[in-house]
Amino acid sequence: MRDDVLEVLISADEIQQRNAEMGQQIAKDYEGKNPLLICILRGAVVFMSDLIRAIPAHVMVDFMGVSSYGGTSMDSTGVIKITRDVDANVAHHDIIIVEDIVDTGLTMRALVELLRTRGPSSIEICTLLSKPSRRKTTVDIKYCGFEIPNKFVVGYGLDYDENYRNLPFVGVLKSGVYEKRKEEKG
Ligand code: 5GP
Repeated sequence: MRDDVLEVLISADEIQQRNAEMGQQIAKDYEGKNPLLICILRGAVVFMSDLIRAIPAHVMVDFMGVSSYGGTSMDSTGVIKITRDVDANVAHHDIIIVEDIVDTGLTMRALVELLRTRGPSSIEICTLLSKPSRRKTTVDIKYCGFEIPNKFVVGYGLDYDENYRNLPFVGVLKSGVYEKRKEEKG
């Protein structure tokens, strides 16, 4: 698996250092509030599990599965389908959406709009990665781990064709990997 990686963009140490900073900031911003962190499945699972342990304060967690209608694994449409909804009633809660990456921003915009209809006290976004150059809509990100260039990345939760989520860093795959996978799929 490691042989498929062309370049490590963000190392495991850099990620943990940034998580610690964001965890401290969240604890400070939400002092006495007990926010509900909603992890977007499946890509944000690894980030979420490290992030919550970096927050030295009470937080609650829940999970939401979101997929983009008609998109491919490498492109999004902005029309979302909820594949798994939160268990919690989010009304009157301070929500922090925890996402792996904001790319065009279309998925996040639709998700924020949906959650807003449920009457939370507040909604903020925490994303590990952001690709500002790809944005098709404005997204107000309160906590952003790293801004990255327009490259397709994998690792630390992010997949290509459901693989590579377990890499401990964020990296770019060799182009041969995509070609090989396409050939295998016919
Ligand atoms: P958006 O609606 O912002 O364009 O897309 C967000 C979703 O697209 C992310 O949650 C993720 O699933 C997928 N995505 C966008 N860029 C990348 C990338 O570089 N790598 C991976 N693995 N997924 C990406």
